[in-house]
Amino acid sequence: MLRSYFRRGAEVALVDRQIAAVTIATHYREYHEHRRPRRFRMHGDDGSDGGGGGTASTMRRGGRSSSSSPPSSATSTTSNSVMTTTKTTTTTTTTPPSEANVIVIGGGIVGSSVAYHLGKLGVTDVLLLEKHHLTSGTTWHAAGLINTFGSLSHTSTNMRRYTRELYETILPNETGMSCGYMNVGFIELASDADRLEYYRRVASFNRLCGVDVREITSEEVRERCPIIETNDVMAGFYVESDGRANPTDATMALVKGARMNGVHVIEGISVSGVITTADADASDTNGGGGGGLSRRHGGRGVGGVPKVTGVTLSSGETIRSNVVVNCAGMWARQLGERCGVNVPNQAAEHYYLITEPIRDIDPNWPVVEDSSRFLYVRPEGGGLMLGLFEAEGASWNVDAIPEDGFHYGRIEPNFDRMGPYIEKAMERVPIARNSGIKSFFCGPESFTPDGYPIIGESSELRNYYVAAGMNSLGILTGGGVGMVLARWIKDGRAPHDVDVTAMDASRFKKYQNNPRYREHRAGETLGNTYKVHYPDRQPRTCRGGRRSALHDRLAARNAFFRDVSGWESPSWYAPISSDDDIDGIGSDFPPAEVVATRQSFGRPDWFNHWSDEHNACRNGVALFDMSFMSKFAVIGRDSGELLNRLSTANVDGDVGVITYTQWLNESGRMEADLTVTKIDEGHFLVVATDTQHNQVVTRLRRHLGEEGGGDRRFDASILDITGAYCQINLQGPKSRDLLQELTAHDLSNDAFPFRKVAEIDMGYARVMCARITYVGELGYELYIPVESAVHVYDLIVEAGMRDHGLRHAGLRALGSLRHEKGYRDYGHDVDNTDHILDVGLDFTCDFNKPSGFIGREAVIEHKRRVAASGGMSKRLAQILVNDAMPLLHHGEVLWRDGNRICEVRSASYGHTLGGAVGLCMLERREENGPIDKSYVSDGVWSIEIGKDFYPCTVSLRPLYDPTGKRSKV
Ligand SMILES: Cc1cc2nc3c(=O)[nH]c(=O)nc-3n(C[C@H](O)[C@H](O)[C@H](O)COP(=O)(O)OP(=O)(O)OC[C@H]3O[C@@H](n4cnc5c(N)ncnc54)[C@H](O)[C@@H]3O)c2cc1C
Repeated sequence: MLRSYFRRGAEVALVDRQIAAVTIATHYREYHEHRRPRRFRMHGDDGSDGGGGGTASTMRRGGRSSSSSPPSSATSTTSNSVMTTTKTTTTTTTTPPSEANVIVIGGGIVGSSVAYHLGKLGVTDVLLLEKHHLTSGTTWHAAGLINTFGSLSHTSTNMRRYTRELYETILPNETGMSCGYMNVGFIELASDADRLEYYRRVASFNRLCGVDVREITSEEVRERCPIIETNDVMAGFYVESDGRANPTDATMALVKGARMNGVHVIEGISVSGVITTADADASDTNGGGGGGLSRRHGGRGVGGVPKVTGVTLSSGETIRSNVVVNCAGMWARQLGERCGVNVPNQAAEHYYLITEPIRDIDPNWPVVEDSSRFLYVRPEGGGLMLGLFEAEGASWNVDAIPEDGFHYGRIEPNFDRMGPYIEKAMERVPIARNSGIKSFFCGPESFTPDGYPIIGESSELRNYYVAAGMNSLGILTGGGVGMVLARWIKDGRAPHDVDVTAMDASRFKKYQNNPRYREHRAGETLGNTYKVHYPDRQPRTCRGGRRSALHDRLAARNAFFRDVSGWESPSWYAPISSDDDIDGIGSDFPPAEVVATRQSFGRPDWFNHWSDEHNACRNGVALFDMSFMSKFAVIGRDSGELLNRLSTANVDGDVGVITYTQWLNESGRMEADLTVTKIDEGHFLVVATDTQHNQVVTRLRRHLGEEGGGDRRFDASILDITGAYCQINLQGPKSRDLLQELTAHDLSNDAFPFRKVAEIDMGYARVMCARITYVGELGYELYIPVESAVHVYDLIVEAGMRDHGLRHAGLRALGSLRHEKGYRDYGHDVDNTDHILDVGLDFTCDFNKPSGFIGREAVIEHKRRVAASGGMSKRLAQILVNDAMPLLHHGEVLWRDGNRICEVRSASYGHTLGGAVGLCMLERREENGPIDKSYVSDGVWSIEIGKDFYPCTVSLRPLYDPTGKRSKV
């Protein structure tokens, strides 16, 4: 059996020789005895699991750590089983051209999809370069699960749905090649209460997105897949139209489709680096603008960011091009690093097991996923494939992925680590215990620091695009990824109808490419795949690398820290008995870490602490450490002009004023949400949220050059001063009294009105103070040089505790306060698909300032269209759940008069309003007319949370302090 399985003459891996002839039970007995006699034990039921699985044996060409013989070429046989030997169709041309319009590096599923979609969109002269053979990186061994259920993101769900359609119908129709898609269905099991709650929430959101998911009983699970042990199963979530595809066949169909649209594909060509306008001589310009690409691709990239102008090959040759796309899979990081482009994806071990054939296995049984047992299972080659996503993954080759010799490769499995997971998997599929193992496969897959893929244009080089770090969803989302990136490349900007904020390649910071960081985080990201995504979930690894100057002081106040873009930042504080207790944390109250241990979708154990912080800010004064905020000094003769060109508001007015503004793209859609303070003529402070750090500085740098002022360079410098200033926000009606006690500067409303900024003296320090709020109260933001931060903090706390009832407050309170006021947060409730009018921020637009602003004409046109059509068709609105008990997190579905309308984009709990609050984008159905007061008041509104419905209130005005008078007193 074993020999026939590897009948193509590949070297049989040691592990397969060891285990193939024995039953799994025998294997583990031997394993106990010979390899890990004492430490073998069952893994706890702590919930995490993975899928994965694949076709290891199908295409493997050799030994345990690498094999590089290509699949035989020139023919194509397709099959709907990934275990069927599949040969690639390749017409190999080995001579590269001297130039191309777009060069795509990497012939896996992702590069092939990008190339296919570029061709389909009419981009000409596209060249796909693969250093070995198509699919030979990671794609060849993927399991090919195609499940549209499971994500709380519109973008991911839409990508999954499109990819399924691409494999099932579009590609076969266009190319005549099958992608091996089998419409066998998909079932997700819930066997504990939290998973049931989680999947119900996901199911309701997925239905809104058009996924036909049905909750089924354990009996129905068994009817559909009789080998599943269902004693403890509470429900299944079934999507009939899902199934599985053959990754190799899908890639080959994409390549055929690409060729049909004129794409040139060459195997056996390795890209060694890129050439850019920075290394070319001064007269070297990038042609750009032709071949179906936007004109934005042309020019030299002077000033801010250099442009890519081609690639260098390992052979020493160069190919000139307008655009380069890095789709190099697990090699993408090191390829990017060679030209300073940050692509922090990291390979990690990923496993599946294939049994010998088992009698009566029906190949048409659905794919079943049981994340509580780290498992997915599906028929494969007459037996079963058991894919595993262990709770803690292991990164692989952190220093560098071998450049050569790891094609069609495999990693020797780690039995010590994986044994307990296999045992747990067998409990769900007992029949597998009695079967021999045909293959226990481990292959590398790339994971990213935050679990989202890396897609889009790099911040470091213009016209250098990336699609990598698929987090084990490369087959499932590959079609969508290719479509989105191809549109991005063609137009020179992200598609206006795809929210790319979570996956934008420019979001990462340099420290996330630190090898130790990657090593620790990649395993955690893999482990998260099958964990319940609790609302307060946060990373455990790589903690403590970025700390505020106040960290120790706040820890002594019993702060519970969360990871905020790598910064440790208080989420909430558990009380302490008295000030005397701050060193040892008071005995009456447990440390915050203890309070926070239990995760749930219901009220957390620290709900009352959160509520107290919220109320202290509403009624007294609260201190927030906001040091993680991104801060940039923009200095130089043209800095005001540069910032005014980018900003909707006039930010270059009086000195000593802070201005809330938006940055838009040319189509009037949102790019960033920030404040700009004019400190002096030619000297500005730009402050943005932590998640937008890189995007904001990238946009500034890009506009320094040709994009901002034609071919002219602005005379301005940008300094990242995030780490140089600690930021304390003092907020609440009593904040003025407290601050006035600590400074001689007159803080009265007349002398220091709303939006005023000044340097004030506090103790021995000088601090920049801005009167502004993000919670809807009187309040101040203090920017303190880090060396004075502790001194100023101590002064505030001493006076605040003594006379003003000061309370420390964390980000949970900030979230609940801002949600009550309806303040927006870019990347959470506002994104790049939104028009400024629709999110209600057009009040920031100054249409009359002489510089104009990017997006101005589009905003005016949008306003005209709205007026002509009788009103707004989309509007961001607040909702309040009328029942005080249920919580909103994100993704819950809003209904009006029995119709689904939209999901909750972001949410919190309104401790002042007395119920959960959220922000939702209402969209008009034609029969209902515009989104206005009567649309809201005439509807019967309810919110679907899990399987329950609750009446709710919808409002187009802030539910708390609608006129904003509290912040202006
Ligand atoms: C065991 C296992 C099971 C999996 N199961 C699933 C599943 O069920 N569903 C799912 O969606 N995903 C699954 N995955 C993940 C999926 O396989 C990957 O996400 C996907 O294949 C990544 O595709 P890619 O094109 O980014 O990378 P790759 O397939 O690795 O392609 C990158 C290509 O770039 C080439 N290249 C690299 N550097 C250069 C260079 N300098 N010059 C030229 N060419 C270069 C490489 O040779 C390679 O062919 C699984 C992964 C594993 C390991």
